[in-house]
Amino acid sequence: MIIDIPKNSDFSIYNIPFGIFSTKDRSPRAGVAVGEHILDLAAVAELDVFNFNTAVLEKDTLNDFISLGKEITSKVRSDIQHWLQDDSSILADKPELFVAQAAAQMHMPVFIGDYTDFYSSIEHATNVGKMFRDPENALLPNWKHIPVGYHGRASSIIVSGEAIHRPKGQVMPPDAPAPVFRPTARLDFELEMGFITGKNTKLGESVSTEKAEDYIFGMVLLNDWSARDIQKWEYVPLGPFLAKNFASHISPWIVTLEALEPFKVSGPDQDPKVLPYLEYKGEKNYDINLKVGITPENSEEVIICNSNFKYMYWNMAQQLAHHTVNGCNINIGDMYGSGTISGKDEKSYGSMLELAWMGTKPLKMKDGTERKFINDGDTVTMKGYAEKNGKRVGFGEVSAKILPAR
Ligand code: CA
Repeated sequence: MIIDIPKNSDFSIYNIPFGIFSTKDRSPRAGVAVGEHILDLAAVAELDVFNFNTAVLEKDTLNDFISLGKEITSKVRSDIQHWLQDDSSILADKPELFVAQAAAQMHMPVFIGDYTDFYSSIEHATNVGKMFRDPENALLPNWKHIPVGYHGRASSIIVSGEAIHRPKGQVMPPDAPAPVFRPTARLDFELEMGFITGKNTKLGESVSTEKAEDYIFGMVLLNDWSARDIQKWEYVPLGPFLAKNFASHISPWIVTLEALEPFKVSGPDQDPKVLPYLEYKGEKNYDINLKVGITPENSEEVIICNSNFKYMYWNMAQQLAHHTVNGCNINIGDMYGSGTISGKDEKSYGSMLELAWMGTKPLKMKDGTERKFINDGDTVTMKGYAEKNGKRVGFGEVSAKILPAR
């Protein structure tokens, strides 16, 4: 091995995820994560080993690199895997090609033109339906027929590490005669994963469930921050608006679908039967362990949730097929959120709303304080990895601190 990769690293030889990084003396550019290092792809390109226009590796987003197509991007990934494992390869004795992750700053990996958020966990949709509507009829009649989603806001998607201020907005306190404007008192996270499309379609074209994977470049972790009190007042009839668009964080490394291929599993049975355009063949879910921790200011992290991406009722192929079935076009770099990923077990719920059950079951922190929602000074960290037969492919983390309202 050209460079040491610690055992249990998310960024094993089986992963090779793509991102955009910079250092004191390197402008933002493409790299791949390898163990605790980053392989500088713009620097590798100077060895004249790639047969495409390598200017795409010096851009500050991956969009142009992704637009080369999977034939090229997959080969870059597999070439790197070979070179890293061959001690006499072109990467040998060139420490200048590697940068310590600790010394690098990560940037948004892609320019996201459009962002759609689905609502595809049956456990999450059922929990929310029980709390806000009718415990007997928690799921709305369309839920098992349509991968429900809404168009989100792309401009406020930011990369892990960037602190945000508590948002303010209109809320309607119980029994108040009129709404008030104030900082949200119910700031929440949503544990999600996002997929990034790697191929354009033209207006009028649709993507079938069978072809969907050709259009998906890779995945990231996504924290879809939510202000529950603002949401409750504004969401009828058109859905979330200012309760969601103040910020969403993603992890900086895009893990390719190829890297995730070994971790495919069957999804849950879908009953009633879906319409033909949503039918699919084979395994379309992925076994990805997910966890969420809260670190209060000056205290230690408490893990409050252990979930798994395999629980999703609707898979990514169905989501993309549904999204495009009316001819809606998609672009390289667009992001699609899974929806909050909750499991059956109450420790697998993917939001504070569910974990603390609308504030009725507060969570204990190590400093003795309790949480019904997220406090100022708290850092919320989500991690995810897949592991099978000794092969580990992980996402690193998406982490951000909440600062007081401005
Ligand atoms: Ca969401």
